[in-house]
Amino acid sequence: MSTIDDLPPLSTVIEDHGLRARKSLGQNFLLDLNLTAKIARQAGDLTGCDVLEIGPGPGGLTRGLLSEGARRVLAIEKDGRCLPALAEIATRYPGQLQVIEGDALDIDPLAHLTPPIRVAANLPYNVGTELLVRWLTPPKWPPFWQSLTLMFQREVAERIVAVPGSKAYGRLALLAQWRCEARIVMGLPPEAFTPAPKVSSAVVHLTALPAPKFEADAEVLNRVVAMAFNQRRKMLRSALKGMGADIEDRLNAAGIKPTERAEQVSLEEFCALARAVAAP
Ligand code: SAM
Repeated sequence: MSTIDDLPPLSTVIEDHGLRARKSLGQNFLLDLNLTAKIARQAGDLTGCDVLEIGPGPGGLTRGLLSEGARRVLAIEKDGRCLPALAEIATRYPGQLQVIEGDALDIDPLAHLTPPIRVAANLPYNVGTELLVRWLTPPKWPPFWQSLTLMFQREVAERIVAVPGSKAYGRLALLAQWRCEARIVMGLPPEAFTPAPKVSSAVVHLTALPAPKFEADAEVLNRVVAMAFNQRRKMLRSALKGMGADIEDRLNAAGIKPTERAEQVSLEEFCALARAVAAP
């Protein structure tokens, strides 16, 4: 029996179901249920919330979310080997855990969730950034979720909360901080995982703001910052040449010096540039 529920410890679950971690699926499991419950608490009050979890694996975080009072958890897992272990959790929490086998990049979870919705995940590293960008850039805001509580490699977590002028500042910081309040809430050493990855990890908590901080079209802003930071050492007038022959005029219209480099440009200025680029 474990510390947070009456199910077997995760090491037993892994052994009983033959869940040897696969590198190709980004599998680094959390086996300490006190730790997974602590991560679940970072997601805020889960009572009365549906939670979307990507990549439950053997179910450590899933059990943390349920033991912390989540109304329902929808878990999307690509590795079919994990399903019997997850079915045992579903039996322990009747009607509260739904598992979908498949690729999170292909599945629209909305059909299965009822607001308020929070997202919590120890993300597979190979799809983590792509999912985050999708969750941050829907055309309409507020999004379907209230908050995202996500485990990333430390270096990626730092890029999400980075400030202008720092090395980590770039597309992720701008997209996250445009529409959310973003904080690193926990750090985890490699030994917290089985197998231990090479790098440290961190949990980032993002709360959706009721409205973006500055007006801009999500698709245009995403395109502008992606291009600007793709060649971050270049002056914006050349990094953004692909935006059109008149990019220098548009930079000037947004109040940005064409000789500036992306690293020095604030969120407010990038939003002004996205508006200038979108203007007829
Ligand atoms: N949540 C578990 C934990 O904390 O121990 C496992 C985390 S492990 C880092 C990532 C999980 O995501 C694995 O179970 C893996 O099979 C799953 N996964 C990988 N790619 C996926 C994808 N595209 N869609 C859904 N799940 C995926």
